[in-house]
Amino acid sequence: MSRKTVIAGNWKMNKLASEVPAFASELKAAITGAYDCDIVICAPYPLIPALNANKDVVGMGVGAEDVSAFEKGAYTGEVSVSQLKELGPQYCIVGHSERRQYHNETDSSVNAKTKALLANGITPIVCVGESLKQRECGLTKDFVNSQVVVAFSGISAEDAKKCIIAYEPIWAIGTGVTATNEQAQEACHDIRAELARIYDQETADSITIQYGGSMNAKNAADLLAQPDIDGGLIGGASLKPVDFATIIMATAK
Ligand code: PEP
Repeated sequence: MSRKTVIAGNWKMNKLASEVPAFASELKAAITGAYDCDIVICAPYPLIPALNANKDVVGMGVGAEDVSAFEKGAYTGEVSVSQLKELGPQYCIVGHSERRQYHNETDSSVNAKTKALLANGITPIVCVGESLKQRECGLTKDFVNSQVVVAFSGISAEDAKKCIIAYEPIWAIGTGVTATNEQAQEACHDIRAELARIYDQETADSITIQYGGSMNAKNAADLLAQPDIDGGLIGGASLKPVDFATIIMATAK
């Protein structure tokens, strides 16, 4: 079984392109020890050229935060996958709960976006996760599995292996309330079991599954030590170079 640990920042609508060079050098300076992961920063489109220009400072990958499900045409404000490809990111988040909540992202648009990214050689980071109400009603596993089933519908095992899944319980995102190690491990394990059911165990075992939701410099090591958690998708703490570096170094074997 070989899968990559990926620590990805999700900057959301924070920071300016002009702040990227200082962030990159501060992050580099703050990484004072070993680590065993790929580092990625996902940011709004206007920041991608600056991230690309500074990616070698830290040895990081660059990601977008969304892409249109449509190929081209009259979709004012949307960015197509070919336009995104020209910007040169290697990753793109799809189905983040904030986009599901505020921008009507659905499981089927997540599926269309995932396919478009795969067809263009960009790694999708597919976000899934339950609300507090769903968790309290004991629906976490069924709900998250249903998101996974639709997101990966019509995607071959070979392509599925190129994807990253981020398990992000909505109640933990930006709230300071982190899932316990056991809750996060159980959900990531259930996602892997569902992937094995859809594909096969070998495919499931090769897909990176991140945890996201108030991961920070203090709780990262314990979360990352869980057998089915292969990294993190990190919002708030990824904006602070020292905290992000601490999370990165928490992957050291
Ligand atoms: C996120 O937005 O993907 C996220 C996990 O945010 P935070 O780390 O701030 O909870």
